[in-house]
Amino acid sequence: MIFFDNASTTKICDDSLAIMNYYASEKFFNPSALYKESLNVNNDINAARDVVLNAMGAVRGDKFVFTSGATEANNTIIRSCARNKNSKMLFSMGEHPSVYNVALDLQSQGYNVEFINLNRQGTLDLRDLERKLDSDTCFVSFMHVSNETGAINDVKKITTFIKSKSRALVHCDGVQAFMKLNVNVTNLGVDFYTISAHKFHGPKGVGGYFVKNGINVKPFLIGGGQEQNLRSGTENVPGIVGMAKAIEYMTPKIKSNYENIRQLSDYLCNAVNKFGYALSLDQKSPYINVLSFEGVRAETLLHMLEDKGYLVGNGSACSSKHRDNRVLNAVGLSGIEIEGSIRVSFSDCNTLSEVKEFIEICSGCVKEYLNKTNGEK
Ligand code: PMP
Repeated sequence: MIFFDNASTTKICDDSLAIMNYYASEKFFNPSALYKESLNVNNDINAARDVVLNAMGAVRGDKFVFTSGATEANNTIIRSCARNKNSKMLFSMGEHPSVYNVALDLQSQGYNVEFINLNRQGTLDLRDLERKLDSDTCFVSFMHVSNETGAINDVKKITTFIKSKSRALVHCDGVQAFMKLNVNVTNLGVDFYTISAHKFHGPKGVGGYFVKNGINVKPFLIGGGQEQNLRSGTENVPGIVGMAKAIEYMTPKIKSNYENIRQLSDYLCNAVNKFGYALSLDQKSPYINVLSFEGVRAETLLHMLEDKGYLVGNGSACSSKHRDNRVLNAVGLSGIEIEGSIRVSFSDCNTLSEVKEFIEICSGCVKEYLNKTNGEK
């Protein structure tokens, strides 16, 4: 089986698995208890936190809060910043449902929520941002890399612009960027940055958010006061140390992985353009590739490929059951193209020979599909 759906999740790395096993079976103590074993585990959590903060380029006083993943982190940040119903909150139209649906929920509760359009390159439409941003705007949320198209926002440029026009806090969902691009939150200028471990060979059910020094967050979960009183609940210790291990495993490889995956992506897109359409954008992560085949139903193609041993995605894995097309529409794909689009997303586990084989198989499946449907007409 060849796994080409790495934007939905990745295989956990051996280092993470080994340390998780150790903390689940040997160092299983509750970090809040008062004996030495627990204090040690508590210190290990803080050491893991330092690994995350360092990898993000955070500075003294900045915080990182571990959560059950990016969905919880996004919910926490957005709801914490929704304090005054009159202050405007802006959200990009391209957001993952864990941001977009929270924005809709706040809007339905009477908060002043507006959405910023995407441009044809799948990034934030800066003119629309300029029109909607005012001195009363308290919060702006946009993602670093789109999970659906791979479009990369120029986070630093956008944040600098927002900060020059308003006092808004800036949240960036970095789930598809962290450990794939170089991320330095200090340089980007953001106030919040969300990550999720299972997207970079860490465990599922753990992630969290960076919060810049001096910014107050209202906890989403209240209880025993764990995680600096910002996220109550007994810590997911194996998950947290497993996440830090995945960061240590990935950090030295970010640059070379990017170069290798860019080659896979270039090869794939060039080849697919001979029998279909590969979405090309000015600034796109090579990790995520949208391929579209006119006249083909993506879901059927996905299962044909699955039968041949290739697992690919159909839009965002989290939203594919209720697929709406706000993101693919924005980059100019027609309804028919969207209907026939799959997402091929890579990790450093993939190779060029897998891509070459996939192209043969995929072209065969598309031909077979079209022959069959043409024959039926
Ligand atoms: N944001 C983005 C951009 C994502 O791709 C995902 C995962 N599909 C999430 C948030 C949610 O992450 P998690 O699975 O950790 O809740």
